[in-house]
Amino acid sequence: MATRGLRFHDLVAGFVRLHILHHATEGEIYGQWIIDELRRHGYRLSPGTLYPMLQAMEERGYLTSRLDRDDSRGRPRRVYRTTRLGRRGLAVSLERLRELVGEVN
Ligand SMILES: [Zn+2]
Repeated sequence: MATRGLRFHDLVAGFVRLHILHHATEGEIYGQWIIDELRRHGYRLSPGTLYPMLQAMEERGYLTSRLDRDDSRGRPRRVYRTTRLGRRGLAVSLERLRELVGEVN
């Protein structure tokens, strides 16, 4: 399995997705910001892992994106927001997570 920086990818990929949904609920976020934020939480995520994940989450209807052009950065960047379906999925997952944490503690 190609983990490309995300250790135990098969186990923690769901947590990464929940982090993304959480932050994209609060405002528009973009790839490099997500990589930096997740590093703060101890996840080492490469663009080669993140971008396919974001694309898949958008295809599933959890995220929506647009190209953000109006900036002095020179080139546009894609920004993401959580959809209504994504918020629902986040809420259900957090409920399940609380249940799991309660059991293992
Ligand atoms: Zn976070």
